[in-house]
Amino acid sequence: LGTATRLYTEEDPLVILSSSSLKPSVINSSSAWLVQFFSSWCGHCIQYSSTWKALAQDVKDWQQVVSVAVLDCAQEENFDICKEFSIKFYPTFRYFRAHSAETDRGTPYRGADREIQSVRQLMVNILQNHTKLDRPDHCPPLEPYSSVELLPLLGQKSDHYTAIIIEEPNSYVGREVILDLLQYSGVEVKRALSSDLPLLDALKITTFPSVYLLHPNTTHTHLHVQKRLRFFFSSLLRTLPGVQRRLKLGSSSSTSEDQMGALSDKQSTEPWRDFDRSKVYAADLESALHYLLRVELATHNTLEGEELKIFKDFVTLVAKLYPGGGSVVKLMETLSDWLLSLPLPLIPYQAVLDLVDNKMRISGVFLGAELRWVGCQGSRAGLRGYPCSLWTLFHVLTVQHDATPTALENTGLEGEAAPVLQVMRRYIRTFFGCEECGRHFEQAAAVSMEKVQNREDQILWLWNQHNMVNYRLAGSLSDDPLFPKAPWPSPSLCSSCHEEKNGVHVWNNDNVLFFLRQHYGASNMSPKYSL
Ligand code: FAD
Repeated sequence: LGTATRLYTEEDPLVILSSSSLKPSVINSSSAWLVQFFSSWCGHCIQYSSTWKALAQDVKDWQQVVSVAVLDCAQEENFDICKEFSIKFYPTFRYFRAHSAETDRGTPYRGADREIQSVRQLMVNILQNHTKLDRPDHCPPLEPYSSVELLPLLGQKSDHYTAIIIEEPNSYVGREVILDLLQYSGVEVKRALSSDLPLLDALKITTFPSVYLLHPNTTHTHLHVQKRLRFFFSSLLRTLPGVQRRLKLGSSSSTSEDQMGALSDKQSTEPWRDFDRSKVYAADLESALHYLLRVELATHNTLEGEELKIFKDFVTLVAKLYPGGGSVVKLMETLSDWLLSLPLPLIPYQAVLDLVDNKMRISGVFLGAELRWVGCQGSRAGLRGYPCSLWTLFHVLTVQHDATPTALENTGLEGEAAPVLQVMRRYIRTFFGCEECGRHFEQAAAVSMEKVQNREDQILWLWNQHNMVNYRLAGSLSDDPLFPKAPWPSPSLCSSCHEEKNGVHVWNNDNVLFFLRQHYGASNMSPKYSL
């Protein structure tokens, strides 16, 4: 049972079914289902679980029309249901059409190829295998449109974009992009075929797949993509102005979202500050420290023992690695010297605050007397702000540590393989106001942080972990519609970071590292709005 619970967990982007939930879920459902019946003692199932999870992640946004699930036949409570469904070998793949009958025991998939691309194409075929009458309730049309239907749309006013993907008949890209955009409003995706000559003539299309975009205001143009890959098409369409992800209702992670809300401030009453997404703003980092010192720490009346040590390490880290010198570094250095010089085992929080205030008053060293979010502005109160700036701060610190490898000498932190991550881990666990976030981060750290052996891995580990959180939170209540959570950097920020291997999106880690060093490097930090 131990292995069984670990093979798939509630954190995975798929549905874990059991004897009691299998039939109510898959029978007469509004969506189709693809279920893997596995056994937690079968070695092949254990090996295959990472592919199945990656598949589920890849098609997470299709869930409303086709869901990916697992059922563990090795669990005692599932013995009977696996028998009833005649599961003899593991893994067994069965799919259930939408609105299936009570007696349906699923259609087996016996394809030898169980790689992500093949199974994903099977899912498209399953959807197309429905009639107009029984297809999943929210399934958009997947059949190609003809020039006769499409050409009259040109020049028409609309309340949304229409993206026409023109592709070879055997290509799945169009259907995959249609399904990738299922959770988004403001854009409708249709496909057409390269054999439709009048359409190619009218739109002047010569390469496939291509996307032709009809804007709401009647203009129409080719959509320029750096690479003709599903991920690039989907990412670009998702970030068109006005295109928004629909929020999940009753999201399970609402606890942490509520807590994230509690970390908010009066930002919505502030005037909007224009900013460039390809820059990092010093004002965000200053606001992070301001919030951390004045709000987050204030909930601890005294600092002692382990907490005090963690706080000292955090201050040292920022003093040594914060880029560009300036007021922040001066203040953090003073704070660090003072903390190290105190022989006391316990410090009242008020003393820290007094020092910060006095220092600022006497020497004109500013941390900013207020919160000024720039790159971390939210479209309304409760969104973005502090947690956004904390991620940003730690990304900057990992990159600075890489750029100035000797900066931590004689601080007591130089012996750690990944000092920035270790200090971040301890800070988040001990002080970060969003408890649930801290728990998730701690889980991830326990699994793989020890493996980080050098400064480059440190940068990449944090980037990857941040993306894991982005994947998990996409579409949740804490997702700002103006800044939807998505794999980062987007193709428009870094196209060379993205590739496709066997039909599956992959990162080019070397190019990601190069990009992160540039993006979070000292020379990309903008002083705009900073004091
Ligand atoms: P953020 O995710 O905060 O990102 C800030 C900026 O960093 C982005 O605007 C982008 O410019 C850049 N960025 C985005 N992705 C990456 C990346 N992969 N690598 C480098 N830079 C990137 N909220 C929850 O609801 N549940 C949680 O479990 C949770 N865990 C968290 C754990 C930690 C350690 C932290 C600091 C925050 C956590 N949060 C959690 C908050 C959540 O991750 C976001 O910070 C918050 O919702 C604000 O989102 P945002 O849109 O401002 O973007």
